[in-house]
Amino acid sequence: MHRQPIALQPAASPAPLPHNGKRFHVWTIGCQMNEADSAKIAATLQEAGYTSTDKEDDADIVILNSCVVRQAAEDKVAGKLNSLIRLKRERPDVSVVLTGCMVTNQQERLRERFPHVDLFFDPSEFGKLEKVAPEVAEFNDDLAELPHYYADPAAATAAASAFVPIIYGCNFLCSYCIVPYRRGKERSRPLTDIVAEVERLVASGVREVTLLGQTVNAYGHDLPEPAGLADLLRAVDAVPGLDRIRFLTSHPKYMSDEIITTMAELPSVCEHMNLPVQAGDDEILRRMRRTYSRDYWLDRIGLTRQAMPRATVATDVIVGFPGETERQFMQTYDLLQQARCDKVHLAMYSPRPGTLSARWEDDVPAAEKRRRHQSLERLQESIQTEINRDKLGQIYDVLVEGRAKGRWTGRTRGNTLLHFDDPRDLAGKVVDVRVTETSPWFLIGEAVSAPR
Ligand code: SAM
Ligand code: SF4
Repeated sequence: MHRQPIALQPAASPAPLPHNGKRFHVWTIGCQMNEADSAKIAATLQEAGYTSTDKEDDADIVILNSCVVRQAAEDKVAGKLNSLIRLKRERPDVSVVLTGCMVTNQQERLRERFPHVDLFFDPSEFGKLEKVAPEVAEFNDDLAELPHYYADPAAATAAASAFVPIIYGCNFLCSYCIVPYRRGKERSRPLTDIVAEVERLVASGVREVTLLGQTVNAYGHDLPEPAGLADLLRAVDAVPGLDRIRFLTSHPKYMSDEIITTMAELPSVCEHMNLPVQAGDDEILRRMRRTYSRDYWLDRIGLTRQAMPRATVATDVIVGFPGETERQFMQTYDLLQQARCDKVHLAMYSPRPGTLSARWEDDVPAAEKRRRHQSLERLQESIQTEINRDKLGQIYDVLVEGRAKGRWTGRTRGNTLLHFDDPRDLAGKVVDVRVTETSPWFLIGEAVSAPR
């Protein structure tokens, strides 16, 4: 099941406007940052009197939130945009809107390519929504600033988990990555704003927050009174009533001893480390401009497991980077064998125009990229089979997110999916669950405690 962020609304905005009978549909692709932005768009339109619909055919405004991190994502956005030509022909009054990473610095080019789109806006320009939804103007003062998110109490009953962006942009220049060109330099939100937001989320029923950033552990370096992620974790942990804190995505360079020991000390911080490595070969890491070595990443994972013996680890890997030889690929294979991660997000390299590596020959053939991808997939499946098999009979506390395929579904503190049957209404509850069946991808269990 895909995690759904709760609908969120801007802080200190005027009272919501009455429903105006118009509907909007938001389609999102990409990372959790995009999901958080989509939640903000939805909340803004709801405040302005619009109603959300699952069906684009029923909508007066269709908003696509795009991702261009990989070619496959960009192709999906283009396909979706083209599929809306029919809707626009049948109902010319429908407003089609495109936002997200595809838009930044590309509006002229996109206008020629997709003339049926009514509005393009940068992820930093939420106020432009007023061009298709004039009622949004009432909230424009808030929207001009860095986005602030607060829970919509009505939506909070449906989800106990919320995304909270804490730092925007990225100061790294990994040679393959488009993000810094589309999302700009790092900008941290003030610590007090984030804590106030979490307090409001908790007051409206949220039990778990995921702090978001492309380099979430670089948090605070740019603030007038510098603070770090460890300071923020301590401040958020002190919010009464909050059960769980997660954060992603971290960069190995900023994964300090202090952050790891703070994670271990604070009761609400989950024992889960999301630390992309990208490659297991030092020469490839150097050409990726990742600024760390294979051994340094292993050291960070080692310290995490030492500080939190039950910690789970997730990472990201790219195969088929320009010039990656079989020997270099096998270094990645060997690293994953050694690290035994609980989850690996695998990607086949695709050149992104404008990045450094796009100037280099994309010389690993597509079939070879697929072979390397499949080889790591098989390795990871066997590792996850073993890791999860060891969980048989163990008891985990699970935060129930909702129902999927007729069962309750939620996550352990280590972020493993766990499904179970239970006649009680457990949405948003924490329950102790004993594992009765395992698979590489999820666990099945039975509740052994009262919900809390
Ligand atoms: N900031 C994170 C980090 O430092 O690893 C990752 C953010 S990136 C937007 C998300 C993932 O997309 C990356 O971890 C990488 O594996 C993948 N990715 C980024 N650019 C890519 C490219 N050109 N080809 C294939 N995968 C790519
Ligand atoms: Fe992209 Fe590297 Fe920044 Fe991550 S750290 S967003 S991979 S440039």
